[in-house]
This record gives sequence, C-alpha cells and structure tokens, in this order.
Amino acid sequence: MIPYAFQDIKDSDIAAVEAVLRSAFLTQGAAVPRFEDAIKNYCKVKNAVAVTNGTSALHIACLALGLGKDDVLWTSPNTFVASANCALYCGATVDFIDIDPHTYNMSVDALALKLEVASAVGKLPKIVVPVHFAGQPCDMEGIFALSKKYGFKIIEDASHAIGACYAGTKIGSCQYSDVTVFSFHPVKIITTGEGGMAVSNDDEIASRMRRLRSHGITSDKTLMRKRSENEIWNYQQIDLGFNYRMTDIQAALGESQMGRIDEYVGRRHQIAEKYNKELSSLKITLPRQSPKTYSSYHLYPICVDEDRTGVCQRQAFDKLWESGIAVNLHYIPVHRHPYYETLGFKKNDFPVAERFHREVITLPMFPGLTDKDHDFVIEITRKIFQL
Ligand SMILES: *Cc1c(COP(=O)(O)O)cnc(C)c1O
Repeated sequence: MIPYAFQDIKDSDIAAVEAVLRSAFLTQGAAVPRFEDAIKNYCKVKNAVAVTNGTSALHIACLALGLGKDDVLWTSPNTFVASANCALYCGATVDFIDIDPHTYNMSVDALALKLEVASAVGKLPKIVVPVHFAGQPCDMEGIFALSKKYGFKIIEDASHAIGACYAGTKIGSCQYSDVTVFSFHPVKIITTGEGGMAVSNDDEIASRMRRLRSHGITSDKTLMRKRSENEIWNYQQIDLGFNYRMTDIQAALGESQMGRIDEYVGRRHQIAEKYNKELSSLKITLPRQSPKTYSSYHLYPICVDEDRTGVCQRQAFDKLWESGIAVNLHYIPVHRHPYYETLGFKKNDFPVAERFHREVITLPMFPGLTDKDHDFVIEITRKIFQL
C-alpha cells in the first residue's frame, strides 16, 4: 500500500539517537535544549518549550494564557480534535468558526461576525486557535487585527506548518500570536516519534509553560517562597503542572530532522506542483493557495463534487484504496464527533466544514514518495475521474 504520509529516517538520525542512548542522560540532558535552540533559530522566536506531543503543547499554552472555568476558546472545526480538547482540559468552553471555502482555514469574515455577536452579549473568547490546515497559514493579519479590537489571545496550531511562511516570515516567529504550537508525530513535517513544542516571544508565558511541563516545579530562587534557613529547598512546586517532558532520545531525532526541514518542504512543493499539473484538467478541486503564504504542504487535499463528475467521495475513496493507495480524509469536523454532540453541537452548525468533509480526499504526500508511486497515484486518480 502507498500510505498518505510516512516518516523519513536517515542513518544520521539513527546515529544521533544512538549517541543519546550511549550517554548519561536519556531525559533532562543536553539534547532537549539543543533541539529547542534549533527551532528557535529556524523560526526566529525567543523561547521554545519541547513537550511530549502537540496536544500537551496546546494544553500548557492554554493554561499559560490563563484559560480556565468560565472562559471560552474558539477554533476551526476543520482540525484534529486536540485543537479543541485543550480548552476542555482547562475546564473552559469551546466553540468553532466555520472555514473559508477556498483555503479550508478559519474564515476571518465568519470570525468577525461571531465576535460582533459575542461582544454584544458579553461572551467574547479568551483564546482563538487558528489552525494552519494542510500547512497553509491562516490569514494571520486579519485574525491579529481582530484580536486587538476584541482583546483575545492567539495560539497558532501549526501542527501541520513547521517550515511554512506567512507574509515573508516563518510560522513560529509568533509575529501575530502569543504562542505557536508544533507536533512531531510521524505523519507531520519532522518527527520525534511522539513530540511537540510550544514557542513564544513572551518570556513570562514561556517560563509558565516550562513550569507546567514539569509538575509546576521551579528552582528559580526569585519565584520560591521563603522558608527557614535551616531547611534545604532546592525546588518548590508553585503551580499544578504535569509530566509533559520530551526525552533526549526524541529531541536528538528532532534536532537531526531539523537539519533537513527545508529539503522536506521543498520536496513536498515538487510533489504538489506535479499533482497540480497532472490533475488540473479533472473536474475536481485542487488545493488553492493564498499569495501571502508558502505552505509546508503537510497534506494535499482534493475535493470531489459528485454533481460535476458523477463520482462521489465514497466511490473515489474506495477505488483508491482498492488500487493500493491508502488515501485519508482530513477532517471529520470536530463538532460532529459523538462526544462533541453530547456538548450540544449538531449537524449544520458549521456547514462549510461539513461540506468539505463530504468532499475531501487527502492524496499521498510525503518526501519519500517515489516518482513511480506518485505517477501511479496520478494515473489512478485520472482513471477514476475519467480523463
Ligand atoms: C497532529 C495534530 C495535533 C496533535 O498533535 P499530537 O502531537 O499528535 O498530539 C493537533 N492539532 C493538529 C491540527 C494536528 O494535526
């Protein structure tokens, strides 16, 4: 089977991991800060906090921004459930903003409308989480301008988008956000097995996130409570945190992978350009790119409109699988999951995202996709849509 995504592991990655395995520190050693430095330098951001996965990065980002009971977080319904679950972990409420029908990212017009209504009834969100779907950055200038007008914080869910650019700057520079979050799951742009990172230019937020990843413990004397001189206090727990630390084994893999990030994104662009060229004559919708963005092309989503081709999503999906192509579907809108329905969400709440769910198929897209397999995917796709 040709997978929709696959990690790229080189001998140099294995050597980097082996070096850690033979060293004194498997965790809390030098590899984690080195990986954090690599991301800081690449994204041009002041602080980086490596954690166990993208989900825990979202969780500590929400807590560090003060999200709690009685607060509201808004995100896109066209995302993985983790972008919304992080609010629920904090005891907050979650709501969604429908997507733009061309970029499949959070619609800034829909956001502006919903903010106007929320403002009138005094129910503004504390945090908005734009998700850079498929690696294409959201309209951050638009979202940022609204954050100034209505006073909410921004966490960019850039799980798909390390290596992407918006208006000439790297995603992760946090030019338009308080925190940006990355995931290093094997299907993503670079991998650490499981892993994630939260980056921020705000030292205070970063120091809170660093504490939250390690039980809420600090050894910073200026933050510790005064105790009797005769007692030894080399650390204190001052918040309720978690064990969300990344191991040095994972960080070594991540640092090694960062050395090839531009190569990875470049190869993903080559694959996208060939799909664009070879599939352009079919009556399917190919992913449209906003001129302000340089995507990391985590995914290559096509949309199948049965009225135009006589082929429905289900038929195309099954035919691709029968041909040995393990295509996927991103995403089932978060609010349609049974758990979210128990919270009161229902069908037709976010119709653009729901329509996208009924039409989208994500074709194989990863740096190691061979030309032969790529050509085969194109050939089968052309056959299904009869051209
Ligand atoms: C993968 C992903 C996450 C979660 O990342 P994990 O590292 O798997 O916890 C969050 N949001 C989006 C959009 C993702 O694709």
